[in-house]
Amino acid sequence: MKIAFIGLGNMGSGMCLNLIKAGHEVKVFDLDDAAVDAMAAAGGKTAGSASEASQDAAIIVTMLPAGKHVRSVYFGEGGVAGAAPAGALFIDCSTIAVDDARAASREASEAGFVMVDAPVSGGVAAAAAGALTFMVGGAREAFDRARPILELMGSKIVHAGDAGNGQAAKIANNMLLGVSMIATCEAFDLAQKLGLDAQSFFDIASMSSGQNWSMTSYCPVPGPVPAAPSNNDYAAGFAVSMMLKDLSLATDASDSVGAGSSFGRMAQSIYEALNDQGHGGKDFSVIMQHLDRSHMADSESA
Ligand code: NAD
Repeated sequence: MKIAFIGLGNMGSGMCLNLIKAGHEVKVFDLDDAAVDAMAAAGGKTAGSASEASQDAAIIVTMLPAGKHVRSVYFGEGGVAGAAPAGALFIDCSTIAVDDARAASREASEAGFVMVDAPVSGGVAAAAAGALTFMVGGAREAFDRARPILELMGSKIVHAGDAGNGQAAKIANNMLLGVSMIATCEAFDLAQKLGLDAQSFFDIASMSSGQNWSMTSYCPVPGPVPAAPSNNDYAAGFAVSMMLKDLSLATDASDSVGAGSSFGRMAQSIYEALNDQGHGGKDFSVIMQHLDRSHMADSESA
């Protein structure tokens, strides 16, 4: 099948490689020439613009930083919508605002195309390994068309409902993750200050009612979970700046529908302080090392 792939960054390059390896004819475009050249060396075809990449593609996959990039690649000058064949399927895997995804889906449909939002859970390693989770929003028939392609890049493909619901699932999940990571760090901090060592607290809490993914799979204290970024000087992983982006999308979405999300808003301000202090590139579990300071920054700004 002829596929266009636009956005060959940290995530997109691994995802695109998996489509090439599966034998599809993939035409690629990115603003970064080096990223395009790397895909060409791996068997991809190159294009000089998004429109050139998509002019004979049945499916157009995008993996871009934010909603404004997706809208301009789809509908801007030299964009996909001006060139793709009628009925082509747009699969946007970027994490973008729910409202942007819904607006893009409407506009794509008015222009004679079909779109699904298909944001991912899992980082760069999962993208390279074809082990991402996709949360897909869009009509059932569009999901059915997208699924065989998504299966080449991911191990779990879930239909979340209508347009935008994939993004809704993604930001609600990541808001929960941000809050649970901070709460987990606070629990370790308290236990240690009260005299428990981290391993003893882990052994107890990981089998008790406080058990959660941030603790058992991604423990923010070095030791109990050897593969966690805490054992590697908090190298990302999932960067503070990325968590902040997702929390900002979650609180903006909360405003738009009147959801309180008070813990999500607190988490956002804590990660904002951490980002402002120059830790944006560290793994989001680095909050463990900055609990006192981030709390102070938060109360100073309150
Ligand atoms: P990235 O910045 O590494 O890659 C984005 C790519 O898009 C870059 O190569 C950039 O040159 C390209 N680009 C930007 N504007 C363009 C345009 N107009 N035309 C063509 N190419 C353009 O970002 P990433 O880490 O690959 O993340 C991509 C998306 O996936 C983001 O929405 C992010 O929130 C989401 N995400 C990332 C991770 C992660 O761990 N990195 C995990 C889950 C979801």
